[in-house]
Amino acid sequence: MAQSTLPAPPGTAPAPASEAPSIGVRALWPYLRRHRPTLLLVVALSLVSAAAALATPLLTQRFIDGLSAGEAIAGTLALLVAAVLVSSLLDGLITYLLSRTAGGVVLDTRVRLVDRLLRLPVAELDRRRAGDLISRVGADTTLLSAVVTSGLVQLAAGLVVIVGAVVLMARLDLVLLLLTLVATGVGVAAVGLVSTRLRPLSEQAQAAVGAMTAGVERVLGAVRTVRSARAEQRESEAIAAEAHAAYEAGLRVARVQAAIEPLAGVAIQGAFLAVLGAGGASVATGRITLGELIAFVLLLFLLVQPLAGAILAWTSIQTGLGALTRIEEVLALPDEAAGDTTVVPAPVADAPLLELRDVHFTHADGTVALRGVDLVVPRGAKVALVGPSGAGKSTLLALVERFHDVTDGAVLVAGVDVRDWPRHALRARIGYVEQEAAVLAGTLRDNLLLAVGQASDERLAEILATVNLTGIATRSPLGLDAQVGDEGVLLSGGERQRLALARMLLVAPDLLLLDEPTASLDALNEAALRRAIDAVAHGRTLLVVAHRLSTVADADCIAVVEDGRVIATGTHAELVATSDLYRRFATEQLLT
Ligand code: ADP
Repeated sequence: MAQSTLPAPPGTAPAPASEAPSIGVRALWPYLRRHRPTLLLVVALSLVSAAAALATPLLTQRFIDGLSAGEAIAGTLALLVAAVLVSSLLDGLITYLLSRTAGGVVLDTRVRLVDRLLRLPVAELDRRRAGDLISRVGADTTLLSAVVTSGLVQLAAGLVVIVGAVVLMARLDLVLLLLTLVATGVGVAAVGLVSTRLRPLSEQAQAAVGAMTAGVERVLGAVRTVRSARAEQRESEAIAAEAHAAYEAGLRVARVQAAIEPLAGVAIQGAFLAVLGAGGASVATGRITLGELIAFVLLLFLLVQPLAGAILAWTSIQTGLGALTRIEEVLALPDEAAGDTTVVPAPVADAPLLELRDVHFTHADGTVALRGVDLVVPRGAKVALVGPSGAGKSTLLALVERFHDVTDGAVLVAGVDVRDWPRHALRARIGYVEQEAAVLAGTLRDNLLLAVGQASDERLAEILATVNLTGIATRSPLGLDAQVGDEGVLLSGGERQRLALARMLLVAPDLLLLDEPTASLDALNEAALRRAIDAVAHGRTLLVVAHRLSTVADADCIAVVEDGRVIATGTHAELVATSDLYRRFATEQLLT
């Protein structure tokens, strides 16, 4: 287990950019489904706004032509003002509704992602870098927001305006329309071609941001070690290199986006020049009126904005899809409890509380950790595991908790294979205190209530007293609301373990799995830890990975683990008499 919490060494390749198949625009739909009413409203409002905007040039034409002909124009002017006001006000409302929807999409996605991350199989989490996963929740979801605000609906609304403008243009003059379509069509096709490069590039850019975040998380998680190794400069440079890679990847995206702008610009300018040239000539020959030409040019102006908007929308959808690939990759991973039964099995009468039958286990990377372990932990017994580091002791505890499943053999709790227990019900019966990181950032209260959610302050004070920790709740005026720091750094090593043990007093599990800290503690802390373990284990069944003579001395049974096997069992006195390895181990390794 210790292995799993080690940060990846520098230069470790980030998780591959994507293992999911590349996804298309349709993948966005599930994210938008819940917001369908708002999106439909936005499209409707966009249509009204577009109609008002489209009416403007026509009303202007009527206004100018009416003015030249000396007709009454007050009504036309009023309509013109109304059209301008309606389209402007609606645009504001649309912007707000879109931002709200985008926020909602980001929110939903974050909530789903976080929930999935907390339920991923442990092996999956071991294999990935936490920082990269964090970056998916933070940075990648943000890109989805642009897909909604300057993306899909803009594209839809833009298309409506474009179609409307084209229809009106057709009514005005087909020759000018043809010129417009050719000029813009060429540009749009070129843009479409270039923008297909955006999705994979954006995915790479997001992966680079993930790698950088993972780099930061790696050093901040071991900041004391980094400082004492005087490695700040080297580590900072390594992260700067990751940041640089993110910058380079961002530049590649920017280059494609930059290529899109002039392409669109040339197309639009070309359309203007063609229309003005051909239109001017047509006015001169009297084929169309000046009012018609002006109306056509205004329609062209009207076309430009949604056209540019649609192109921008298309590019932001493509970059958004890059981020979505990374999000979908996580969401596609299984919930560890996906295949669990929901039926809590009835315990088998007279079965030992915990039993391992010929358990084999190979880690995902091929490391063989257990090679046929048999072990019986009777109800109420205290069983200690001792053995050299890397022997497989922590892995054994992990199999009982079902962080991993056995490769072969079986682990039985109350006579039932752990694979036939719903994980929640199984873990409710087991208390597990890991060696490191058994304390989470937050307050003392948060840590105590981790498993049970609530308990009175009196009860919390009582259990702190039981593990001899009253001091940590009284030394700060904040009492139980005092912060413990990231992974409990504001507490001493001994205090951390005792706080984690205190938590178990609230849960009151049948079976307690304890990975004793290897660090040697001063005599006071040692005695306090001893009493805390005794208090928590009292009346329960205890399986402890022991590093202390005092722990093994009063164990009912000690299993000596070496190289993935139990090579001897017995009491301390028996093993001292019978096992060479144990004797050697007891004198050389057990700390006190
Ligand atoms: P112990 O607790 O006795 O020190 P562990 O159970 O931690 O031993 O480790 C047993 C073996 O499994 C070791 O060889 C260790 O390197 C390996 N190991 C532990 N955790 C992992 C993991 N998450 N992935 C791959 N190998 C692991």
